[in-house]
Amino acid sequence: MVSELISKAERGEPLGTKDVFRLMSINDKNELEELYAAARRVRDKVFGKRIYTYGFVYFSTHCKNNCTFCYYRRSNTGIDRYRKTVEEIVDLSASLLDAGINLSDLTMGEDPMMYADDYKLLIKTISAVHDEVGISIMASPGALPERMFPVVREAGADWYACYQETYNRELFESLRLEQSFDDRRNQKIWARKAGLLTEDGMMIGLGESVRDRANTIVTMGSLGCDQVRAMTFVPQVGTPMQDFTPYDSTEELKAIAVMRLLNHDKLIPCSLDVEGIAGLRTRIDAGANVVTSIVPPSKNLAGVAQHELDIENGNRSVEHVFEMLDETGHRHATSTEYKAYLDSRRRKALR
Ligand code: SF4
Repeated sequence: MVSELISKAERGEPLGTKDVFRLMSINDKNELEELYAAARRVRDKVFGKRIYTYGFVYFSTHCKNNCTFCYYRRSNTGIDRYRKTVEEIVDLSASLLDAGINLSDLTMGEDPMMYADDYKLLIKTISAVHDEVGISIMASPGALPERMFPVVREAGADWYACYQETYNRELFESLRLEQSFDDRRNQKIWARKAGLLTEDGMMIGLGESVRDRANTIVTMGSLGCDQVRAMTFVPQVGTPMQDFTPYDSTEELKAIAVMRLLNHDKLIPCSLDVEGIAGLRTRIDAGANVVTSIVPPSKNLAGVAQHELDIENGNRSVEHVFEMLDETGHRHATSTEYKAYLDSRRRKALR
């Protein structure tokens, strides 16, 4: 039964939520191996040995929101926060491009200063990185009003990323306090309408059921997102969820493989933000084809899920990641290859 479902998905035949639930319920070691092997075959057939690489520029850790799982929630007072200048963000993005990284992920909390004067500083930042650096850009600025998406695209962003975390409405509302489920879901629709590529993501281990995970995977696919991800929740000090028992990476690896089987030609990241460099190989082996959250050391930058993990020791640096990719039998893609992929996605969206 499981083998049949895996083969069906590998052939590109559609699976329903019930099928996805069945795959997300696999616990048998041999069946898991079968799942991962099929996901690798699908990825390699579409992308060859190319793996894309994203740098993470978390340029403001100020936030007006109070998500229960997040270290940078507004109630977590007394922690160090920072806001980089436009010049610093341009320099960081330029150093990522010089090092051979494909994209600069410009991420911030919902920082009122970046949002002031009709998002003036946010748009200025995206434009400056686009005009002065020329690296591909993902904008991850939090939830925006619909009218801002054409402006973000016009400023030079290729991508808009916004994670729902879960498509269980009730759970969402207990996590993303005072935020609208529908508004956050619509972000991806509005961004696509404005010509942006979109990323959605789910968090694993926040209290969701296996059925919720299956439903979230199916919903992210149905929204037409070009990049979909799963990340394991890491409890954060000073938050209401600090004493949650963390999951190991099994459910995340399963989700990566299932998402790959359902989305043959999309991008599926492995984040260095959960287990640092140690978690790279297992995620590549589960079918991921993008390494995200590469953070240059000595730049006083934070990660999201783990704000310090492997950053200052240089393990999330470019050279180290490239070496690790070689060891997995893959290679990092060039910027030309990455841009060609983005163009093909845009053409596909227009059809
Ligand atoms: S998850 Fe994002 S929006 Fe929520 S508190 Fe953290 S930085 Fe703010």
